[in-house]
Amino acid sequence: MQVENLNELLVHEIKDLYDAEHQITQALPKMKKAASSSELKKAFDEHLEQTKNHIKRLEQVFKILEEEAERETCDGMEGLLTEGEDLIKENDPSDVLDAALIGAAQRVEHYEIASYGTARTYAQLLEYDEAADLLQETLDEEGETNKKLTKLAEKLNPQAV
Ligand code: FE
Repeated sequence: MQVENLNELLVHEIKDLYDAEHQITQALPKMKKAASSSELKKAFDEHLEQTKNHIKRLEQVFKILEEEAERETCDGMEGLLTEGEDLIKENDPSDVLDAALIGAAQRVEHYEIASYGTARTYAQLLEYDEAADLLQETLDEEGETNKKLTKLAEKLNPQAV
């Protein structure tokens, strides 16, 4: 990947996020299936719906930047999701697996929070205000999801002790 200016770097970040969000839509149903807690299942379901919306927002951002909506493989997200999948493959459903799934989901959220925050700031600097607002909306939702996962962990993890 060669990036010669901040504009190209922003486009690269958006393509990376576009791929990451698609990967997440594939992973969440598997995480839901592996979860034991009905609350955790519900959280994964809700986040799947949000994620579909995140993809649509990124498509709006591509339009604003006058770029094709393209995916660039996000190796970071691939790694995080592979770790989650390995946990699911190697363990039967249990309170402990639920704790592990929450941890895996929070790592995904933190990755997204970092990436959306970075992309939002590049968009602001380049005066793509509308794009910056769209990225901020998703950033806020990822932050909310992360907080929700923390609350779930505080509630469910004691059952895994
Ligand atoms: Fe997302």
